[in-house]
Amino acid sequence: MIGLVSATVAGAAARDRLAAAWPGRTRVYDGPVADAVRRAFAECEQLVCFLATGAVVRLVAPLLDDKRTDPGVVCVDEAGRWAVPLVGGHGGGANDLARAVGEVLGAEPVVTTATDAVGLPGLDTLGLPVEGDVAGVSRALLDGEPVALRTEVAWPLPPLPVGDEGAYVIRVTDRLVEPAAREAVLRPPSLVVGVGASRNAPAEEVLGLVEGALRDAGLSPASLAEIATVDAKAGEPGIVAAAERLGVPLVTYPAEELARVEVPNPSAAPLAAVGTPSVAEASALVRGGELLVPKRKSAMATCAVVRRPGRGRLAVVGLGPGARDLLTPRAKAELRRASVLVGLDQYVDQIRDLLRPGTRVLESGLGAEEERARTAVAEARRGRAVALIGSGDAGVYAMASPALAEASDDIDVVGVPGVTAALAAGAILGAPLGHDHVSISLSDLHTPWEVIERRVRAAAEADIVVTFYNPRSRGRDWQLPKALAILAGHREPTTPVGVVRNASRADESSRVTTLGDLDPATVDMMTVVTVGNTATREIAGRMVTPRGYRWQEETE
Ligand code: SAH
Repeated sequence: MIGLVSATVAGAAARDRLAAAWPGRTRVYDGPVADAVRRAFAECEQLVCFLATGAVVRLVAPLLDDKRTDPGVVCVDEAGRWAVPLVGGHGGGANDLARAVGEVLGAEPVVTTATDAVGLPGLDTLGLPVEGDVAGVSRALLDGEPVALRTEVAWPLPPLPVGDEGAYVIRVTDRLVEPAAREAVLRPPSLVVGVGASRNAPAEEVLGLVEGALRDAGLSPASLAEIATVDAKAGEPGIVAAAERLGVPLVTYPAEELARVEVPNPSAAPLAAVGTPSVAEASALVRGGELLVPKRKSAMATCAVVRRPGRGRLAVVGLGPGARDLLTPRAKAELRRASVLVGLDQYVDQIRDLLRPGTRVLESGLGAEEERARTAVAEARRGRAVALIGSGDAGVYAMASPALAEASDDIDVVGVPGVTAALAAGAILGAPLGHDHVSISLSDLHTPWEVIERRVRAAAEADIVVTFYNPRSRGRDWQLPKALAILAGHREPTTPVGVVRNASRADESSRVTTLGDLDPATVDMMTVVTVGNTATREIAGRMVTPRGYRWQEETE
């Protein structure tokens, strides 16, 4: 819950806009300001105060306790120009909150936390528990001092400017180690403990068994991702309480699924009781991984510990047609999230300034599509966070298909849609896509011309608006005239045609002409060509395809 406090009429107006933008997420604290801030501080995860920073500093100072648990506090000035994360920039999420408030109110976020200010992810914002010399290592990263990364467990981390050697060390491990001086230890959630228990096994006993197993194996409870068991034990109080005390979710699996898992120590008792010869080992192993601690027993419970390999992450990101403000915020976030970026060199250039220091860039020239796809998938399989980029939408005549054809289910895949050329061009031309439309690529590099021609013919007969991608290149110049001739067999020569070159790029150009007048020689590979249907009209220089063929009768 985000608490909102304001004092003036202007503050209250901004407060109400925020509350309206985030329904259910905010609570307004009225009344005397000092009291309102104190109540909100006690009751909310975050605060936005439409008050002077000085006033809020004085009110909040006596309430501050620990940056890991204090709420994040953001101040917005009277004119709504600035959103200032006052305390809890990282732990309390105030930096991100200030950015979000900024987007809603049109205010500039004023982020002063060192790592954020230079675009480095703070070690405490990676979403992983971190121990040791966090401040020292963060400072070393900021100062550009050599920091070594030692990964004992592969995990898809965001980029960090690290190398193999350095006086400072970031260690990624689930083992129970005391951080050395100048060392920060990141704890990936790589461990799963499978638990079985007889009815009414005490929580203390289950907890003791789990903690003992981890300790004896030299494993850190901070890397525990979940407790796993069989469905029948989902409500077993001792197991539920143990998971709660360890601060991890309890995940359960059907007995039939567990019965299929091969385990070293099956036994007859659970088979009779719940229908699987193993609960602890099978529920820990059911999603794969390495059995580090085979079944252990106490009087009423069993447990086993498994290390799951870090799943790599492949983000397939569309960059939009070119202009920076047509790159979605989600695409931007994925670019900053990835430690490895794979793409065509000219697309990498489009977003290079957004990459975080330490991002490994694997760029290649035109053509090498299959190889780019293979590289991206191979990097993700190594447990890394990879972004594979493409212009427009990465799934439209682009990298998503070859990459996903390569990928197996051992990596996570995230798709981020982008504004494809047909849409970017449509917005420039007017409203050419107001009714049914298709895209057809005229490149016969991967597709036989007969197939392309059959599709153009079908679109012509069905009176569908057509956008041609890859319309014409130096070596491919007869396809576009041929395709236009097919459409002209079913549409008047006066049918509007929109030609857009380099949509949303610096040298954008566009024109609306007609099927009869279009000179194909003016079209190249940086261009899309949109041909209207029989109802499309040019109105005031814009291309307009009616919503229906009887649109005058429609009321909207
Ligand atoms: N994935 C891209 C399309 C790749 S195919 C997308 O979704 O937009 C390459 C073709 O797309 C080019 O030959 C051209 O026809 C078209 N194209 C891509 N970007 C364009 C732009 N900014 N302006 C005009 N056409 C563009």
